[in-house]
Amino acid sequence: MSSTASGPWRVASLSDTGTVRVANQDACQEFGRSDGWRLLVVADGMGGHAGGERASQLALEAIGQVFAEGSTDAEALLRRAYEAANAHILETAGRDVKLEGMGTTAVALLLRPDGAWTANVGDSRLYRLRGRDFELLTEDHSWVQVQVRKGHLSLAEAEGHPYRNRLVRCLGYDSGSQVDIQALDLEVGDTFLLCSDGLWGELAEDEMARVLGDEEPAQAVRTLVSQADRNGGRDNITAVVAKVGGRSASQSRPVAPPTKTQPLRRWLRGFRKRASRPRP
Ligand code: CA
Repeated sequence: MSSTASGPWRVASLSDTGTVRVANQDACQEFGRSDGWRLLVVADGMGGHAGGERASQLALEAIGQVFAEGSTDAEALLRRAYEAANAHILETAGRDVKLEGMGTTAVALLLRPDGAWTANVGDSRLYRLRGRDFELLTEDHSWVQVQVRKGHLSLAEAEGHPYRNRLVRCLGYDSGSQVDIQALDLEVGDTFLLCSDGLWGELAEDEMARVLGDEEPAQAVRTLVSQADRNGGRDNITAVVAKVGGRSASQSRPVAPPTKTQPLRRWLRGFRKRASRPRP
């Protein structure tokens, strides 16, 4: 686990193998620059024996390298970083038959004092707790998500679907260079969560929101990961939490029921998920 408090952000991260898998193919890292920019990344690798583990590490390596070059154009930087990661994985896989077919998701949050950007490929996610609103900011590039968008599957059907882990985009494939990038505004007290599906697949959204609202990043990542483990831990679990500015945990308020900016169906989805899961 790592935890830092330099600059206006407090950040902590934790990655865990879970209770079923024997290796951890997730990876996460926090990169910093002397101009105060920070970049947080979660990657969830897949493919072969060592392939998944390698792919997520290669993605972090390439993304970190581009970030360190010092570009001050956030969007161009993220686009180039993801292109570099995709190429790095393809190139490495091309040299070693054992790594053929490896790939990884990658979700990133770029923080600077005047704003933030997110980049995403795959089904790792970025959430934000702002006041009492807990919101998913990224879109999954998964087969079931495409079917939901087309109206062919309901959210409930998507959750239990045998293809729910099938991705339509990931780094290490031709599709990897198609990256979603968006600019975000920042407010003091905003709390971001980057995570792999091993976390969001095991925890209801209201559970995640409650932890982010109640706990400081260093404790929040521990609580989130151990809760996902207790709920099944069927996959590798990774959480990175970043809190903006000075509000202390004791000033944070509990998360309320849905608001206008938190669509009811997402809220209900959290409850359905929790209700349908047998408790230990
Ligand atoms: Ca996973």
